[in-house]
Amino acid sequence: MDLFEYQGKEFFAEYGMPISPGKIAFTVDEAVAAAEELGAPVMVKAQVHTGGRGKAGGVKFAADIDAVREHAENILGLDIKGHIVQRVWIEKASDISEEYYASFTLDRSAKKHLGMLSKEGGVEIETVAEENPDAIAKIWVDPVAGLSDDEVASWVAAANLPEAAVEGSKVILKQLYSAYVEGDADMVEINPLILTPEGKVHVLDSKVTLDGNSGFRHPDYVQYDETQTRDEREAAAHAQGLQYVGLEGSVGVIANGAGLAMSTVDVVNQVGGKPANFLDIGGGANADVMAGALEVINNDPNVKSIFINIFGGITRGEEVAEGIIEAMKRVSIDSPIVIRLDGTNAQQGRDMLAPHLGDALMMETTMLGAAEKAVALANG
Ligand code: GDP
Ligand code: MG
Repeated sequence: MDLFEYQGKEFFAEYGMPISPGKIAFTVDEAVAAAEELGAPVMVKAQVHTGGRGKAGGVKFAADIDAVREHAENILGLDIKGHIVQRVWIEKASDISEEYYASFTLDRSAKKHLGMLSKEGGVEIETVAEENPDAIAKIWVDPVAGLSDDEVASWVAAANLPEAAVEGSKVILKQLYSAYVEGDADMVEINPLILTPEGKVHVLDSKVTLDGNSGFRHPDYVQYDETQTRDEREAAAHAQGLQYVGLEGSVGVIANGAGLAMSTVDVVNQVGGKPANFLDIGGGANADVMAGALEVINNDPNVKSIFINIFGGITRGEEVAEGIIEAMKRVSIDSPIVIRLDGTNAQQGRDMLAPHLGDALMMETTMLGAAEKAVALANG
């Protein structure tokens, strides 16, 4: 679950991190009212689930109320990397001496939490990693032992932050680690973490991704779930209880089991195609589930062919066949379907499908063969 900047800041504040006062606004008038309450100068900041807002014209300094109105007018409705701005965060402007970068994420291969700290903040960390990798101080934290004061001190020293920023940074980095661990985050990032002319270290931006599966420990996370920007296809699929992830390609994919669905996406790529989605219909492949899956895929205008890849385990071949036959009666499908059916009672299932085969439904005996067929059809 991705948080908007202001939600991330409120989340950080719960762990004691210093953030600037601000207010959320959905309209120009609300933005002006917020700025009047906070007092100029303020920042007008687009709230979207993507970074690089500054570069895209989504972060503006407003010296007075007229400027707030002008910026809010320009920013509300702005398209930032395909995200339309629907809310702006009006924040009391800070004076900046220096901009730093700090983050925590999981390093799966090291089985540790990875902290990154750099005095080259305010720019994308990928750019720093490319142009000046030595400017990033990394720390790997044992999740059981946690982050000790000594480790934080040597980490901050390794980043070569100026003396004035050392103490404040140490405090914030420990708070950031607590937020990351106790808040069940997958990623927390502050860019920039600033040093003010008065010598205060302060959080000026936030990027937070929370583990959506941790909601049972955090009932208040429903508020973030409600503000997720979902792909329309994903929203439709999730409403039907399907495990669906939208992708950019033209081959619709339906498989039973997450592992097989991932392999199906891979094999489509392997034979030169592009999957339109990942879709795991799970154990049951009855007509309702199959019809729902076909409907979701059929509504994706990019889809040119559909690859149904089923390996019967507990789900038997004839159930799958019946599900497909019934689903095809209910949903009128625009793209040709290629099915590969294997596993338990596959032959019975294939026999049932045989009379229905033609231009709309084709069968292949192997996963690779079916992928090739589906990709050939998608590529015209
Ligand atoms: P991003 O572009 O999406 O990462 O948005 P940020 O919140 O990081 O803002 C981009 C840049 O705007 C920052 O790196 C700062 O240089 C600048 N900025 C943001 N807030 C303030 C502020 O309160 N005062 C000043 N002077 N600059 C700010
Ligand atoms: Mg930023």
